Amino acid sequence: MSAILSIDASKPAERRLAWLGRRAGPLLLLALLLSVPWLPTFSVNLLNNIGLAALATLGLILLTGVSGMTSFGQAAFIGLGAYTCAWLTVGTDVPAALSFLAGSPWLALPVGLLVTAVVALVLGGVTLRLSGHYLPLGTICWALALYYLFGTLESLGSHSGLTGLPSLQIGPWLLDTPVRMAWPIWLSLGLALLLCRFLLDSRSGRALRALNGGQLMAESMGVPVFRTKMAAFVLSALLAALSGWLYACNQRFVSPAPFSVTAGIDVMFMALMGGVGHLWGAVAGAVIVTLGRDVLQDWLPSLLGQGGNYESIVFGLIIIGLMHKAPQGLWGAVHRRWFHAAKGAPAPIADGIEALPRRALPARGEPVLEVKGVTRRFGGLVANRDIDLTLHAGEILAVIGPNGAGKSTLFNQLSCVDRPTSGEIRFLGQSIKGWASRRVAQAGLSRTFQHVKLLPTMTVLDNVVLGAHLRGHAGLLRSALRLDRAEEARLIVEAQRQLARVGLAHLANVEAGNLALGQQRLVEIARALCADPAVLLLDEPAAGLRLREKQALAELLGRLREEGLAVLLVEHDMDFVMNLVDRVVVMVFGEKITEGLPADVQAHPKVLEAYLGAEA
Ligand code: ADP
Ligand code: MG
Repeated sequence: MSAILSIDASKPAERRLAWLGRRAGPLLLLALLLSVPWLPTFSVNLLNNIGLAALATLGLILLTGVSGMTSFGQAAFIGLGAYTCAWLTVGTDVPAALSFLAGSPWLALPVGLLVTAVVALVLGGVTLRLSGHYLPLGTICWALALYYLFGTLESLGSHSGLTGLPSLQIGPWLLDTPVRMAWPIWLSLGLALLLCRFLLDSRSGRALRALNGGQLMAESMGVPVFRTKMAAFVLSALLAALSGWLYACNQRFVSPAPFSVTAGIDVMFMALMGGVGHLWGAVAGAVIVTLGRDVLQDWLPSLLGQGGNYESIVFGLIIIGLMHKAPQGLWGAVHRRWFHAAKGAPAPIADGIEALPRRALPARGEPVLEVKGVTRRFGGLVANRDIDLTLHAGEILAVIGPNGAGKSTLFNQLSCVDRPTSGEIRFLGQSIKGWASRRVAQAGLSRTFQHVKLLPTMTVLDNVVLGAHLRGHAGLLRSALRLDRAEEARLIVEAQRQLARVGLAHLANVEAGNLALGQQRLVEIARALCADPAVLLLDEPAAGLRLREKQALAELLGRLREEGLAVLLVEHDMDFVMNLVDRVVVMVFGEKITEGLPADVQAHPKVLEAYLGAEA
């Protein structure tokens, strides 16, 4: 335990450090803003550039660090925000129908955001279904396209761009100097950071982070993967467009060069250097890259005795070094080293919070899952051949069989992660043919995975709350504005209860990746229970558990059966299975060879020969 919670929260010095760690970002930001009036213009310019870069990088951190999608097109969205502002304020061919929007940079902001959202929806629609490295390659394609569009369209001033943009004005104050523009830039950044922080700490934020844990897991928790990806993409583009609008108002001149793919790679550099896993990594990355470039551009030519863009080479080397030594980026490394957020003991379950409504379970003995003639072929391999089985409410059914028998394949079809080649599956009386896995999850089927799928950098509690996703409703906006607190409290209490049920309440605040494998399996069970299921599918739940933990798990499953849940489990530990379950189905080479009471199955000659015999 001491290795996990490396800070002893009872020591005042460490508590103070942790307190400082949580507030280091906001304090630095405030100090910067207050020092602006005393800084020379040159430094304020640099600060503004840092703020603008940090806003766009924040978007990329939401997209890449939080949601696991890599994009090199962030600069193109900055360009969209900047060019919309320039065109509406100084463009010579704004149609008469839009003339009511022309001339004011303030009106250009909502228009720029709207244009960006529409473009992002279209581009996201085309690229976000791509997986692996096709996605970043796709983003390079449309980033190039937008860049050439900026440089070619005559109404956008072609290569030379548009100049003479008006300054922002707030009442009598004209924001026409870098010092005056520092306020909107850094306040926008501060506000964006705050809203993103709120967002991440909510149901919607967990859905975004679940994308990082793989499509399969996220969908099984009820997260609509494609819609959530689109939301992350649009949100990230909007932050870039806001940065672009501020840039245009600050520079009062736009040209294509700052919005190229190279600039998009720069934003990625900032995110990587700062730390994609932390919102404040955006600020750290923007500071390092912007200041670093400035310093290197001065020093390197004089050091090397000749002019040239050597800083790009140095940045490349730094990135490679950093990825080796501190893949979590600078902010991540500093945070881990000095401010490691000691969360101390888990919070007790809050009093007086209304429990979430529970689903009505089917009557005991009623069939909940009916599998009829299910066959699944992978090319020539028949992983499941003509499988029949029925699971009833209030029973525990085990599927046993040697490795490769097709048990996990069957589970995947039951949870609609995979589809049968032929045959029918009915869940609570309805055919689930063609259903998405989140639909069957909504209908009351929860599962765990043979290969544990937790989000290792999220706390155990956050992982478990994700299981209650379908029992909450707060969307992005409500979450970002903190209007979701009542619902969030109910979800958290539910997760705490389920975590206590599997005996891991004391580990609520630990990062899930730090747990032993057996404990991670228990966390997955708590997460599945959070969905208030009628049917629980457990793929090898006892693997990696110690004897005491196995006994506790058997006790828990027994209690769930008493409550009327139906449990289907795959397990290799025969003692565990035989003492716990009501019936056993035996599979070998994709076929069901027998089914019956544990004692009968154990003595069945075919089973002895094919399964237990093989082991002996
Ligand atoms: P079990 O869980 O009983 O150990 P699985 O269901 O994982 O077995 O696998 C059954 C068989 O199906 C194995 O031979 C496996 O290689 C094959 N299989 C499983 N999934 C796929 C897939 N997506 N593509 C091809 N073959 C697969
Ligand atoms: Mg398996």
